[in-house]
Amino acid sequence: MKYLNKDKQIYKILQNELQRQKQGLEMIASENYTSPAVLEAMSTVLTNKYSEGYPGKRYYSGNQFIDEIESLAIERAKKLFGAEHANVQPHSGTQANMAVYLALLNPGDKILAMNLAHGGHLSHGAPVSFSGKFYKNAFYGVDKKTEQLDYKEILEIAQREAPKIIIAGATAYPRQIDFKKFREIADSVKAYLMVDMAHFAGLVAAKLHPDPIPFADVVTSTTHKTLAGPRGGFILCKNFLAEKIDKAVFPGIQGGPLENTIAAKAVCFGEALKPAFKKYQEQVLTNAKVLAQTLINNGLELVSGGTDTHLVLLKLNNLGIGGQQAEEILSKVDIYTNKNLIPFDTKKAFDPSGLRLGTPALTTRGMKEKEMKTIGNIIAELLKNTKDIKIQEKAKKQIAILVKQFPIYKEIKY
Ligand SMILES: *Cc1c(COP(=O)(O)O)cnc(C)c1O
Repeated sequence: MKYLNKDKQIYKILQNELQRQKQGLEMIASENYTSPAVLEAMSTVLTNKYSEGYPGKRYYSGNQFIDEIESLAIERAKKLFGAEHANVQPHSGTQANMAVYLALLNPGDKILAMNLAHGGHLSHGAPVSFSGKFYKNAFYGVDKKTEQLDYKEILEIAQREAPKIIIAGATAYPRQIDFKKFREIADSVKAYLMVDMAHFAGLVAAKLHPDPIPFADVVTSTTHKTLAGPRGGFILCKNFLAEKIDKAVFPGIQGGPLENTIAAKAVCFGEALKPAFKKYQEQVLTNAKVLAQTLINNGLELVSGGTDTHLVLLKLNNLGIGGQQAEEILSKVDIYTNKNLIPFDTKKAFDPSGLRLGTPALTTRGMKEKEMKTIGNIIAELLKNTKDIKIQEKAKKQIAILVKQFPIYKEIKY
């Protein structure tokens, strides 16, 4: 870095963070490593430009090239997901959801979404979020026995609550979602159907997950999770909602779009359109299955007994530890995960009974089945012997060797 290294304070911290990312096992299910091309797009002069409005209809002059970039991002998003309309301006997944509510709801209207403890997201009506303060909320959850969605129950709740919008999509649900059933439920109560595919968008792009586009009125997403793009959001919708959605994003909730990030989104969508991306997502799924089976073989319990997505949710109850302690022990040996509520959790969010693990970032590093078995065994041993320092020291050494075999960002020198 020729210029940033003159700011010694920031530069030093940046070096440390790059080192941390290189030498840790990133198993937070919502994280990934972007390609170097995505990183390059983000640090360009595009950040200098004000481009309030949309391609061809801007409030500032000098946007001819910005228009080309944003139009490419829109075209690629539409092609990747087979959508009628795309808005690539939301700064994040939460902003994308906020825009949809502003477009389709009035303050005080009701949102029906998945319970936070069962895998839902804060921006789906949680009381601590704007979504729970400006709108009424109602929640559905998973079945107590199967720990999977029970569509009959969701229908009953929808009929009882009469929501204006129903949200399908979650942040910690390891199973696929049946969007056709959600559509039928939404139709029967005359509600909009929104699918928030923030977590599994990469799987949808690779056609390895049920496709929400044909069924949902609106689909929201992030670009930085399984899609492996820059931190950001986007919205896909049918043409009849396009104008409402665009107006809600700008001027509704945002000012100038981050065109450097939009260029990086275009790069990400371009990468996801290549055949290699499907192979990558197939490996993400295989890796999650092998990781889940390895944990089960070690006597650990998983929510819903397994996974058919990129993530697994460990139930820690039978190990006698909480999510906070599990997260800490693993991060001590450079394995990054996050504590998570589990369905019907009796503990609170700052120390819940679950731990969420994902395979997108490890798969980006090139890791496969063999490594998932090794890592699954290491995690199980650590969580079953939380006081054994020798086991922790051994694990740390094993991980140091593993990450050297699967380096990331070799070409990036800070
Ligand atoms: C991650 C996530 C979001 C929020 O994305 P941010 O970019 O962090 O705002 C929204 N919905 C779901 C389901 C998510 O998993």
